[in-house]
Amino acid sequence: ENLYRIQGWGEPYFSINAAGHVTVAPQGDRGGSLDLYELVTSLQQRNLALPMLIRFSDILEHRIERLNACFAKAIARYNYGGVYKGVFPVKCNQQKHLIEDLVKFGKPYQFGLEAGSKPELMIAIAMLNNPGALLICNGYKDREYIETAMLAQKLDQTPIIVLEQIEEVDIAIEAAKALGIKPNLGVRAKLNAKGIGRWGVSSGDRAKFGLTIPEIIMVVDKLKAVDMLDSLQLLHFHIGSQISSISVIKDAIGEASKIYVELVQLGANMKYLDVGGGLGIDYDGSQTNFHASKNYDLQNYANDIVAEVRETCNDKNIPVPTLISESGRAIASHQSVLIFDVLSTCEVRTDLPQPTTNTEHQIVRNMWETYESITPENFREAFYDANQFKEEALSRFKFGYLTLTERSRAEQLYWACCQKILDIAKREEYMPEDLEELEQIMASIYYVNLSVFQSAPDSWAIDQLFPIMPIHRLGEEPTRRGILADLTCDSDGKIDQFIDLKDVKHVLELHALEPTKPYYLGLFLGGAYQEIMGNLHNLFGDTNAVHIKLTPKGYKIEHVVKGDTMTEVVGYVQYDVEDLIESIRQKAEQALLENRIEISEAQRLLQNYEHSLSQYTYLAP
Ligand code: PLP
Repeated sequence: ENLYRIQGWGEPYFSINAAGHVTVAPQGDRGGSLDLYELVTSLQQRNLALPMLIRFSDILEHRIERLNACFAKAIARYNYGGVYKGVFPVKCNQQKHLIEDLVKFGKPYQFGLEAGSKPELMIAIAMLNNPGALLICNGYKDREYIETAMLAQKLDQTPIIVLEQIEEVDIAIEAAKALGIKPNLGVRAKLNAKGIGRWGVSSGDRAKFGLTIPEIIMVVDKLKAVDMLDSLQLLHFHIGSQISSISVIKDAIGEASKIYVELVQLGANMKYLDVGGGLGIDYDGSQTNFHASKNYDLQNYANDIVAEVRETCNDKNIPVPTLISESGRAIASHQSVLIFDVLSTCEVRTDLPQPTTNTEHQIVRNMWETYESITPENFREAFYDANQFKEEALSRFKFGYLTLTERSRAEQLYWACCQKILDIAKREEYMPEDLEELEQIMASIYYVNLSVFQSAPDSWAIDQLFPIMPIHRLGEEPTRRGILADLTCDSDGKIDQFIDLKDVKHVLELHALEPTKPYYLGLFLGGAYQEIMGNLHNLFGDTNAVHIKLTPKGYKIEHVVKGDTMTEVVGYVQYDVEDLIESIRQKAEQALLENRIEISEAQRLLQNYEHSLSQYTYLAP
């Protein structure tokens, strides 16, 4: 368990059972659990190929419940005179079944949706049907966006149009007049409080979105001038996603609550304080302020927001606002698990070397002596010697003083030295820093049936860490250290950074492949952002996705969303499959005429071609 730190990042949903398989408890501590390995096996028997995304709707429900329960607890604890009404930012995962579930599970809490763009607004208006839930309208807006959002008020919805650019206020005033609607407006503030980490640039004066304080005052003046200041009801900020430190959150809330109070005092009809996203996920289970973790839990988060806002409002004798958070990552990350298989491995060959003879090249003899003399006392020194001899061998080869066979001997001995050194180093309490790279050099490459660009784009684009581990054979010691290489022919298509205790490690503990038996790995906590950001590099398409719901007797498959076929992906780049097939047919006819192909071969080629086009873009086992 410690190897993969599953207890840290997985609780209460993921753990390891006595059979050495990962188990999933989709309802946390209070429901049954499923053996993930057995689930995958039975899904494959239903012809669902890997890679496959498994979504657990119960986890989604549990996350919504937990977030709301934490705010309810904080509100009771601090005797807060208002309520919490969260919204889910659609950008995190727009998939229809997920949004449907979200709206359904959010009903008891009047949990709403946040749209960050015009297309997301289209989804949010159509899908949201929880009276009382909020529809927060963010992002760039044109007149049609603003009008549509205003008109949604007539559909028994509560849209709040958050002004993020100063130009939007004039459009909103004109649209409201033209429609004769009293809209609900908000402003997004550029806080001075700085975010941290990758999304830290989301705040501050140079942030892409939001209004500076002088601009907010301008909005107040403009609305006042047309007698619409009572439409201004909400203050929003967002200082970035995955905020790993609670003190950063506290700072931002402190500043925002002061602005809120001032807006009340300026005569705005303030009712809502929207703290945006940022609620982090503990990807490495370390509970620290490392970027892949967070040094607070859901309850600390809710407590700090509630306490801070209450104190600021009480100080000024102002009624507390309804609190909104736009927590996407924290709601959607846990609900899906990506399962993929290993196709093959490539290992560094470190066979026991043959001793040298006196007639061999001096460099080869030096390398052999180094190999023979490695002991626990001198292994670090020996690593430097071996590297030096290897460099020397290469440079002599370049200048023609070493034959290819001699170079091969020297390299073979070098790898044997490395293996011997690594075996000793691993027995040390800590891997010496100067030898860390050795573990990487010696790592096996596990070729996986997956596209990193499609299924874990943040791992490629921003070095985000996701927990990855085998989902079976966990009672067996993983004797190999490896990195993962995907199916794309792109050297960036690999995963060579893995979670470690408040750090990154560059190799993953894995098992040796067993002949004819599959080896399954799972990538966890990837339910937010990855699906929509994934791209079609090398034309690897969407993976199969299965929605699983726990039942008293086990589980039920609620939906199967088939991954892209080759016909679909070539269609995305404007090829018509009929044209493609016709082109192959004509080429085959020509080849037949010129006696370059047998008729049976031509038939086989066309059959394969047509069949492939109807198939999944990933490799069949
Ligand atoms: N709200 C806004 C305005 C955002 O830009 C984002 C994403 O960055 C979110 C909410 C969701 O943030 P998170 O996924 O950290 O909860």
